[in-house]
Amino acid sequence: MNNHLQSDIDHLDGLLEKVKLQGLDYLNNLNSRPTSKTHRIELKDKLPQKGIGTVGALQKFNERFEPIMVSSSGPRYWGYVTGGTTPASIVGDWLTSIYDQNSQEIDAQGDISANIEFETIKLLLDLFELPKDYFGGFVTGATMSNFTCLAVARQWLGKQFEKDFAKEGVTQKINILTATPHSSALKALSLLGIGSSNIIKVKTKEENREAIDISDFENKIETLKGEPFIFIGSGGTVNTVDFDDFVSIAKLKIKYNFWWHIDAAFGGFAICSDTHKHLLKGWETSDSITIDCHKWLNVPYESAVCFVKEKYNILQVDTFQNSNAPYLGDPMEHFDYLNFLPENSRRLKALPVWFSLVAYGKEGIKDIVENNIKVAQLFGQLIKKDKNFELLTPVRLNTVCFTLSGTDNQEKVKPFLRKLNDTGQVFMTPTKYNDKIGIRAAFVNWRTTEEDIKLVTELMRKIINEA
Ligand SMILES: *Cc1c(COP(=O)(O)O)cnc(C)c1O
Repeated sequence: MNNHLQSDIDHLDGLLEKVKLQGLDYLNNLNSRPTSKTHRIELKDKLPQKGIGTVGALQKFNERFEPIMVSSSGPRYWGYVTGGTTPASIVGDWLTSIYDQNSQEIDAQGDISANIEFETIKLLLDLFELPKDYFGGFVTGATMSNFTCLAVARQWLGKQFEKDFAKEGVTQKINILTATPHSSALKALSLLGIGSSNIIKVKTKEENREAIDISDFENKIETLKGEPFIFIGSGGTVNTVDFDDFVSIAKLKIKYNFWWHIDAAFGGFAICSDTHKHLLKGWETSDSITIDCHKWLNVPYESAVCFVKEKYNILQVDTFQNSNAPYLGDPMEHFDYLNFLPENSRRLKALPVWFSLVAYGKEGIKDIVENNIKVAQLFGQLIKKDKNFELLTPVRLNTVCFTLSGTDNQEKVKPFLRKLNDTGQVFMTPTKYNDKIGIRAAFVNWRTTEEDIKLVTELMRKIINEA
């Protein structure tokens, strides 16, 4: 055995202890660690013949890379939609690496860790108050979840014409209707050979909403003259967290033949809030749903689930089967995730989620969600009260979209944001909404408190007054 490997295995105890202490130091100091870095590093391209052992590598990491690690899992990282990590999820994630299972089968001789994934999916369906007739599995993110769901949708559409697109390729035009798709859903269309610009854009509601206009939706459906289509709906758009009217869509689904996919990457967690769960009413009749776990569930990257109604199991296997033989009989009989999802070898991504769900229960997740909604509301109110700023949209759930007041201040928005982010105390990201340059703050981190909101609003006032 290589002497470094031998030495590492002989000193595993001390090694893991070092990492534990370093991890504690990071986690216990998230509040003061900067949210951004200007520091540049020089990248190497020569791999030395001899290694330096793990203690040596850790030292190198600490010298070169540790200083660029920002507190993206801390309480004031509000850019994009960035979740943190609960203690339970870190425990689950560490154990995932340690046990290093390849999550595939549920009833085999070897690795049957997929049972944990099965159970986690059941627990998630319960959390989301969804019926048990969804089949689910873990993928790396909402992008891959959208891809997976839309791949089954594509197969379903082919089936309406007695075609097998998975085998034959996409041999005919696929009608996609959507109003405000997430960019990753369009990426999925490009990966699926449908084409990201081959969409029929449905109007959104009046007054610059991002939710679909139901009457225009029905008009667009009528122009298809009975042709089947795929509809990509939104359960929380990223800019303004607008939700489609799922109850009305469910009614249209009875009348017309289409696949209904909902991208609810983070918005699905509205179900955990008594005051906001109504936004998801009717979503249980959709054919497929995308949910991210590394956002509002606060588990480490990369973690998301896709839910596809189990009545489409065969279509899903037609799409993702790893053997060339036609699938005979019931795909659940010799169940193997690799025939249902894009990846073959699979990390046991369910474990961090399982730990968080079991550790905190429905109440714990509800507390995270409701706290984030509360701090978003507070931030929105403080912005509304300050004459220097204006909200671009009402605060519908957990995101605040705002800009500098006055039409002549538009060119000052980005420099203001840069200055604010340069403080290293908070991180937000730019956006464009309703032809205005704006700033977005999304709250999904379990650590964020009202104190953080007050600290940042004071910082914002200070910066605007200096300008
Ligand atoms: C974040 C997000 C995505 C993409 O998710 P990844 O996890 O980054 O792949 C898709 N849809 C919505 C609505 C999102 O918020």
